[in-house]
Amino acid sequence: MTEPQQHLSLVCDIGELSNLIIESRDINAFLQQTVQLVAAHLHADVGSIYLYDDDLGELTLKATVGLDSSSVGKVRMKIGEGLVGTTMAQMAPLCDGDARQHPQFKYFVETKEDPFKSFLSVPIHRGAEKIGVLVVQHREADFFDTSDIMALRAIAAQLAGTIASARLMMDLPKPKAKAGGADRVLNALRIVKGEATVPGYALGPGALLRPVDPLLTETPDSVFHNSLDGYRKAKQETLDQLKLLQERLVLQLPESAALIFEAHNMILKDRRFDAQVSECIRDGKTAADAVRRTALHFAQIFEASSSPYIREKSQDIMDLARRLLFNLQKEKAGNASPMDAHIVISSQLFPSDVLKLASESVAGIIFVGGGITSHVAIIARSLKIPMIITSEVRLLQVPEETQVLMDADVGNIYINPTQEVLRPFEERNRTRKHISAGPLIVADETFTADGVRVHLLANINLLGELSLARELKAEGVGLYRSEFPFIVRSVLPSEEEQRLVYARLFEQMAGLPIYIRTLDIGGDKVLPYLDLPQEANPELGLRSIRFLLKHREVFDQQLRAILRAGRDADHLGIMFPMIASMDEFAAARQALEQAISSLDTENLPHHTNPLVGAMIEMPAVLSVIDELAAAADFFSIGTNDFIQYMLAVDRTNENVADYYRAFHPSVLRALAGIVASVSAHHKPISVCGEVAHDPEFIPFLLGIGVRRLSVDPQFIPSVQKTVASTSVSSAQDYAKSLLAVPTVKQVDELRCQWHIRRDAR
Ligand code: PEP
Ligand code: MG
Repeated sequence: MTEPQQHLSLVCDIGELSNLIIESRDINAFLQQTVQLVAAHLHADVGSIYLYDDDLGELTLKATVGLDSSSVGKVRMKIGEGLVGTTMAQMAPLCDGDARQHPQFKYFVETKEDPFKSFLSVPIHRGAEKIGVLVVQHREADFFDTSDIMALRAIAAQLAGTIASARLMMDLPKPKAKAGGADRVLNALRIVKGEATVPGYALGPGALLRPVDPLLTETPDSVFHNSLDGYRKAKQETLDQLKLLQERLVLQLPESAALIFEAHNMILKDRRFDAQVSECIRDGKTAADAVRRTALHFAQIFEASSSPYIREKSQDIMDLARRLLFNLQKEKAGNASPMDAHIVISSQLFPSDVLKLASESVAGIIFVGGGITSHVAIIARSLKIPMIITSEVRLLQVPEETQVLMDADVGNIYINPTQEVLRPFEERNRTRKHISAGPLIVADETFTADGVRVHLLANINLLGELSLARELKAEGVGLYRSEFPFIVRSVLPSEEEQRLVYARLFEQMAGLPIYIRTLDIGGDKVLPYLDLPQEANPELGLRSIRFLLKHREVFDQQLRAILRAGRDADHLGIMFPMIASMDEFAAARQALEQAISSLDTENLPHHTNPLVGAMIEMPAVLSVIDELAAAADFFSIGTNDFIQYMLAVDRTNENVADYYRAFHPSVLRALAGIVASVSAHHKPISVCGEVAHDPEFIPFLLGIGVRRLSVDPQFIPSVQKTVASTSVSSAQDYAKSLLAVPTVKQVDELRCQWHIRRDAR
């Protein structure tokens, strides 16, 4: 038991200690000194640190004073196992006066911890990112009190940033795989089944996302040019490469190409960064060492920031250091972009990561544990990066650079494929290239087999997709997901910047209807620079229209930018996402009216009467659908979210993918009811979720009266084909039969029969 004021000095000491990592680049020494300090300050008999390995899902004892030192590296536990595992599972301190009586207590023989009764542990974490657990123990019962808990928490908070930046710099020693462990994983994983998410074929070395590059850690100094001159040349080469990368990206990501390497450029041109590297070299350090030290120092400063956006930039600094070191080498092998032509395997991905990976020309992405309708999958498709989603976590243990073949047409992943496996794929790939070189035949207008007109519009996520939309004769933009230009920026784009992005939409799709959805941020689409509080349940949090109505300045700016960009548009629709009530729709519409009148007052040219629509994504609107149908000018059903909320299944979670069923009777009946109500009010309604391009679902949609589908441009030809081969009369019979049965099983049987009949025709 200690006095609170003493704890402050302890936190300061730990802060001092973290310099030790820079000096020695030895995390084990740092952790050992930390536990000694902590135990001494809290008068504890034992002080220990366990670190969490995300890939293995395990905690490992990394440093201890008081427990048997030979148990370091050997004692391991899963989340939820023993008191330490429980602390990590609950992400909360655990204090017990007599640990052995605790129901979760588990005795680890190696530690020889028998004599210690009092137990206090706190999780070390950064937001939701698990880093480890800090523990103190004492022989006497009931030794620790509230002030000790507070002290340990403060230390854990301090440690989190330091350990996270150390992880960037040096690979924390992973538990040694048992003899032949890697081989066993490789043997067990010769072929892995996954969900084909973005079709394609990719072959390349595997890479876990954000690996620790050997250039940052173990490459000897003799490999590098070590003079100040060498550093200056490497710096110039790095600047040139970044410029080239940006130019390459302009076609793919016109709205944000310049921004992806913004932080790299800024740091590289920063006088303090440059001065610190030069000073280190003049002080006698090698150029490589100077770059590493300076980068780590800057990364640590960023890591300590309270802003998640700045903290995230520490990754950019380490990436920049790696690029500098690459160019400092006397002989360069490989590529400055480590992910270039690699197949990236990751269990944690955000849409912004996919944008960055595209800039590094990755060959394919394997997303362990993601959901097929997540925005990560949607953006990968826009960028045409083959992607497979799988629940096979052992893929995260496949050694770096292992040869991986992705057949993303069917969802198969082959590890170390043999020549026999490779040959047919290479053949197929050649044929595919040949076919895709030819023109795609699409009719100007789409009709069902019995001559009913159906409108096909494009979902646009990135401006780079507009040319394909035009080429494939999209009849307009049915959904512009306006959030992607926001995702890669470092600050909120200004009204003017947004206006320029939207203007490209109107220019390139001139004369055609354009429906822009206002910002749908939240859930899996995060804007780190907004520094919003972490949410335990982001899909149920301050998402979408809720966010916009709370942050009116963001909403107003976006509405003004759209109205100004579309000033001459013949047909502009603005739609609000995730509307849950009449009140929300009215509030959003009022914001739009205010934006129009502010532009009137300022005499700025703008569109004066856009159509105002609601996206149907929340089951909450089912009971007010008649009133909503009367109030809005048009509707678009976002089935991705509608299914998620109707069935309470997280669309980003592969574990519950089996529950995510578009053909669930409740979903089918709800969709039929919505379309009937809206059609009764003679208002247009489209479907813009993933089911709109599903050849199995399209007949049902046609059968319930949907005549507008909005799909990613690449699907237009196949959707046209499905529509053309379906007659409305048969689709109506089919829909009627599905709507008449109450169970998923019966629906599935009817689907099966329908396909058999159809195939027989
Ligand atoms: C949907 O929810 O179906 C939709 C089109 O919106 P998003 O996928 O962008 O959430
Ligand atoms: Mg949605």
